[in-house]
Amino acid sequence: MSHALFENIYVEKNAASDAVTLRILERLGCSDPEYIVHYKDVFDLRKEGCASGRSLILARNPGKHLYEGAPVCQSFGNEHFYYSPGVMNCIYDCEYCFLKGMYPGRDICIFTDIEETFAEIEKLEKDFPVYVCASYNTDLNALESITGFVSEWCREALEHENISVELRTKCSRTDIYKNLPVSQRAIFAFTLSPDEVTERFEKGTPGLSERIGAVNAAMEAGFPVRLCFDPMIYFRNWEDSYTAMIDKVASSVDLSKVRDISIGSFRISDQYLKNMRKKFPESEVVQYPYVCVSGYYQYPDKVRIRMEDHIKGLIAGKCPGALIYDWR
Ligand code: SF4
Repeated sequence: MSHALFENIYVEKNAASDAVTLRILERLGCSDPEYIVHYKDVFDLRKEGCASGRSLILARNPGKHLYEGAPVCQSFGNEHFYYSPGVMNCIYDCEYCFLKGMYPGRDICIFTDIEETFAEIEKLEKDFPVYVCASYNTDLNALESITGFVSEWCREALEHENISVELRTKCSRTDIYKNLPVSQRAIFAFTLSPDEVTERFEKGTPGLSERIGAVNAAMEAGFPVRLCFDPMIYFRNWEDSYTAMIDKVASSVDLSKVRDISIGSFRISDQYLKNMRKKFPESEVVQYPYVCVSGYYQYPDKVRIRMEDHIKGLIAGKCPGALIYDWR
């Protein structure tokens, strides 16, 4: 069965009667998915570039439902920082995305046992406040009309005082926020990029104006909003492009109402970058001569510091009291 977004829809037999599976199939208007024994029978076999489209796989998560955050991810001052691998892969196609080094192809696998994830977090929150990045391996907002997971995460945060959730996104949808359970523990984090970066390196993602529209919609609905100028990408005209972007953001968003701002230049684990360099020999962003520091590739200090200081200075100029988190 094909769908506008997916060339095939597969369902693991043991997930066939899960409520999430039935909901997603109904939303996609799919009554005849192909049944498989294990998601890896499809997900691990379809290599990048081998197939024209992407498939959707609905499966149970046989592994961990929560992982501790990686050192290059920002914890935003949260001591107990986790991420959830509830959906693997993204409908967008950013050239620099670490998922391209992590997963073999473009297929998206949605784990239907989200209740198991919530049960695990609820066990932890009895002992300490838990902060979870729910959109770590995907963009949940962009999949909301299919999964409904953004709504479930917001409800989880609303109902549990010790659970905070970050939903990071490049999605421009403005219609979802007014229907979500609002709380100060569900943080929408919007990655904002200059249009030149989006056009060159963030295939399929909305432009800056559209993302700003979503930022304002989330704030109007009462959600705390984080602006992420991360990852910053180096290219010939980076300085002018990032300056123009901050001018535009400052003139269209009330920065005094933004919860906080995250900045960071591109960095990636050495193994993911090695995988990506084999797959994408022509990619400017993947083949850049990064330096490896403690297992992570990043821009040489001279470039990195200049970029990060530049954007910090711009933000401080527009919003002197802004709470800025730096990935270092
Ligand atoms: S939106 Fe995020 S998760 Fe999706 S491809 Fe781009 S960088 Fe990766």
